[in-house]
Amino acid sequence: MQTKRILSAFAFTMLTIFLLLVVASRTSESAKADSGPANIDADLSVSMPATPAPGTLPGSKEEQEDKTADKPDVDITSWEFILANSEHNISSYTPHVVPIENTAQYFDERAIGALTEFLNAARAAGYSPYIQNAYRSYSAQNYSYNGRASQIAWPDYPDEDDYAEAAKYVAPPGTSDHQTALGVDITDRYYNSLDASKMDQTFLAWLRENCAQFGFILRYPAAKESITGWNEPWHFRYVGVDAAKYIMENNLCLEQFVSLYK
Ligand SMILES: [Zn+2]
Repeated sequence: MQTKRILSAFAFTMLTIFLLLVVASRTSESAKADSGPANIDADLSVSMPATPAPGTLPGSKEEQEDKTADKPDVDITSWEFILANSEHNISSYTPHVVPIENTAQYFDERAIGALTEFLNAARAAGYSPYIQNAYRSYSAQNYSYNGRASQIAWPDYPDEDDYAEAAKYVAPPGTSDHQTALGVDITDRYYNSLDASKMDQTFLAWLRENCAQFGFILRYPAAKESITGWNEPWHFRYVGVDAAKYIMENNLCLEQFVSLYK
């Protein structure tokens, strides 16, 4: 009887110790899991500026507003900033255009000097820039757009759905950056249809890295397709040097830049 009691007391003690060990190990595991994010936070705090600007908290709303406070002092209503997209139809806007070098392509006469400098700099860097597309008038854009819709609808007449489908490939008249006469598709040679994967990537990178000093921006960056609707690594747009530098340095698209002035 005595032995049985001792044995059951021993078993009870062992069970208690076992349970305590289980609880202890669980606690230390959860402590480990907690230490993960704590370490990440520590890394972040190291990379933060040592002395935040007076009156601002890092990552706060004030800091975000400060980031746009250094935006260039430009008149957003000036011709360089004309915005043509699906929400801003520029209707039959017709700037005065002049030929680009000895091509059959045209550009706004107020920005032709900047474009020529940009092209010459590309040549000096060892590239052979080709002007694939530049100015397209309202009526030319209308023609391409209607043509595309007719092609889709063939042999029927295009309906609303066909026009909507066509708009995925050709911007409807009034909504193309090419109609501003400030947008230009620069490639390394003539292409039947534009496909970035077939192009000289180092040339595209050179254009991207150097465009701003001549007043140009990448108009349709891949990362901004959700805003602009297009991804064209060959399409550059004149906005003037100050705006271009600010836009390229801050990874903005023209839509975002214009909205900073609203
Ligand atoms: Zn283009």
